[in-house]
Amino acid sequence: MKKRLYVVSLGCPKNRVDSEVMLGVAESSGYQLVDDPSAAEVIVVNTCGFIGSAKKESVDTILELAEQKESGACETLVVAGCLSQRHPTELADAMPEVDHFLGSSDMLRLGDVLAGKAARMLVGNPADWLVQASSPRTVTTGKASAYVKIAEGCNRSCSFCVIPQLRGKQRSRSADDVVREVEELAAQGVFEINLVSQDTVAYGRDLDKAARHGLASLVERVADVPGVRWTRVHYLYPEALDDALLELLASHPRVLPYVDMPLQHVSDELLRRMKRGHGGDRIRRVVERLRKRVPGLVFRSAFIVGHPGETDAHFHELCEFVAWAELDRVGVFRYSDEPTSGSFTQSDKVPARAAAARHRKLMSLQRKIAHAKNAALVGQTLDVLVEGTSDEHEYVMMARHAGQAPDIDGQVYLSGGECAAGDLRRVRVTQASDYDLVGELADEPPIVAARRGQLRDTAARKRVSLAVVR
Ligand code: SF4
Repeated sequence: MKKRLYVVSLGCPKNRVDSEVMLGVAESSGYQLVDDPSAAEVIVVNTCGFIGSAKKESVDTILELAEQKESGACETLVVAGCLSQRHPTELADAMPEVDHFLGSSDMLRLGDVLAGKAARMLVGNPADWLVQASSPRTVTTGKASAYVKIAEGCNRSCSFCVIPQLRGKQRSRSADDVVREVEELAAQGVFEINLVSQDTVAYGRDLDKAARHGLASLVERVADVPGVRWTRVHYLYPEALDDALLELLASHPRVLPYVDMPLQHVSDELLRRMKRGHGGDRIRRVVERLRKRVPGLVFRSAFIVGHPGETDAHFHELCEFVAWAELDRVGVFRYSDEPTSGSFTQSDKVPARAAAARHRKLMSLQRKIAHAKNAALVGQTLDVLVEGTSDEHEYVMMARHAGQAPDIDGQVYLSGGECAAGDLRRVRVTQASDYDLVGELADEPPIVAARRGQLRDTAARKRVSLAVVR
């Protein structure tokens, strides 16, 4: 009987791509992917480790799944990813129940583990890995959508961030290799491509002159792959975006007017302490220029509250900015005091209670903006990508419109009619909540009908193979 493997993927979409590579390695090693950890002989926890809460979630998940070695079929427990990369020795000493440790660049070493010829500690150099079109990979994001990692690592030194320590320096894939992967995905029916990396705006700058075409040229080539309908760009650093990229966001029919740009703060003092390399005026100019140039723009961002040195006045300035900018999607993080980060040695740490209060205040300010923007969609007709049955109720299907990125933005719950996961359908919005919508299916055939049995039917397999903790 085939041996069975269960993977849980923690953290960001870039880590999810790595989990999908490990699924691909397992499948090509003859393993069956299961969604019940108690049935798996091999369990892999692909960890996240960039801030305190993520580290805690990773440790809790490892300890929880380690119990399967007593109560389930588990013979081998593997810990991979950023936490493993960051604290290999401490984890190995503290967790005798873990059989193998892989780092953030060691996905392919899972093959040695499954072949039973691997040492316990397999954490290598974070700069050794760059996914390729030829890498084994089992896509788990449904029938019509996929993340495509275009680069790995980051050359910046934001003082609160340890990601460059966990992922190494920036290294971009060649545009030809990215396009080859997108062609393969599109040939299997995927029409939504989410381009991800740590520092997407810097894509290609590390490639040699001949291969350096920059992000805009890559985005255009991806969007022009036959079958691709939605191209979305994630993790843009707040730099002055070049005209070519703005033009694509504004007018290319298959590049979504969607910008995911973590701004972190707007106060000059805080941005200086964060070593972001720019002040608040740059940020206001970038927002204004994007709003002016890109009709129907959906702007997602993220902010940190409670960074050392943040006063009530700085926080008030941030709230004023968020009220002015009226961003569509906002994530708010409380500063995490990471010992190996530059901010750790800074003075004027903010008490946890004050940071928590600021987090609540900014989230509630943004909730009102999000609700008003959602309410404005009631009565409108939108195209939606059907994702599958909702987590809430098996008879309710859920979908996303072009302004909703997978895993991080809201959903459109569907009413009135039948549809299938992977379809692209037209709906009329009938209700809105803070982050979600209800859409009535138009009485017409799908714009794109999901192909049956494509991608080895990954939607079903998704329920089988990859538990994602967001
Ligand atoms: S751009 Fe800054 S915050 Fe983002 S991964 Fe690089 S160092 Fe971290």
